[in-house]
Amino acid sequence: MDIFRSMELHGYGDLYLRRDDSVGLRAIIAVHDTTLGPALGGCRMIAYPTEIAAVEDALRLARGMTYKAALAGLSHGGGKSVILRPQAIPNRKALFQAFGRFIEDVGRYITAEDSGTGIEDMEAVRTVTKHVTGVSPENGGSGDPSPFTALGVRRGIEACAKYKLGRGDIEGLRVLVQGVGHVGYHLCRELASVGAHLTVADVDDTKAKRAADEFGAAIAQTDEVFGLEADVLAPCALGSGLNDATVPWLRVPIVAGAANNQLAEQRHGDLLHDRGILYAPDYAINAGGLINVAHEAKGYVEAESRAQVMRISETITEIAERSARTGTATHRVADAIVHERLTAGRRAG
Ligand code: NAD
Repeated sequence: MDIFRSMELHGYGDLYLRRDDSVGLRAIIAVHDTTLGPALGGCRMIAYPTEIAAVEDALRLARGMTYKAALAGLSHGGGKSVILRPQAIPNRKALFQAFGRFIEDVGRYITAEDSGTGIEDMEAVRTVTKHVTGVSPENGGSGDPSPFTALGVRRGIEACAKYKLGRGDIEGLRVLVQGVGHVGYHLCRELASVGAHLTVADVDDTKAKRAADEFGAAIAQTDEVFGLEADVLAPCALGSGLNDATVPWLRVPIVAGAANNQLAEQRHGDLLHDRGILYAPDYAINAGGLINVAHEAKGYVEAESRAQVMRISETITEIAERSARTGTATHRVADAIVHERLTAGRRAG
């Protein structure tokens, strides 16, 4: 891969690299766009097949954060960081402190936890820079973002049910939840509390069983969940679930879930639109966790964060209405709204 070519394709932006042999740090910070405010996005520490794959991941993810923040109405741009997971980590705290110094030097990127990093790591970062969120509640942090992501997804499902099915509430709504991990579990709790009928599927039997025990959910096989009849399919597992093997067989009027990058390709969003299925764009409906850490960046007040997460329903309704008015698929409408906001921000700035 040609790095500058890839930056061009993703519409960049700045890319920062740091190597600190004393602690085994090899890290990348990608700052995609800061038109609307400082870049915000999590730090991944996973093993990559190549260094270029890590750069590509950071570029792709940071761009996604620009879109998510803009659509959520946040005063933040998109950034993401990647630490190439070392073979051995003799001193994890020192590693993250070195990473924190990198963030401090960059100065326009705020980090948070992501795959392979956790609250303790963010606490270590916090000892050297204030450009960090996802620290523990005792230190002014907002804790686990998953319940907020789940709340936003519930609000998105409510908006879809109202728009598509004319329902004022979701009591008795039949929802298929694919993946009952951090977000899926809390989503089940949210939906069960307002009387939805749940069917869950997870490759991990113990997680599916927990949802069945706690929320009365029925359990489906993971390979059948995309073909079951219901009112809503909520993908909450991995990305690319909406693809050639699933979209033609869906028997739901609504797809609305937490997973990132649900569409294997953009054309699958068009296919959903053509089939008359209302798709809540992933980065619109799953922004609750990001909204929550954005509140942390400015001094955390949970009630204010919750109130903003609740308004995800308004974003989803706006997208659905504009999609119907213009005959454009919802994922394209969401992108158009982001472009309009960034253009307006550039003019104002
Ligand atoms: P998680 O790893 O805790 O949960 C994912 C669950 O999906 C696991 O229980 C796993 O066993 C299950 N799973 C994996 N493959 C599956 C398959 N083929 N069929 C059924 N189940 C399968 O992750 P999470 O934090 O709950 O995130 C879920 C999704 O939501 C991810 O795509 C993530 O990127 C996205 N997301 C999460 C947050 C957040 O706040 N955690 C915010 C925004 C987006």
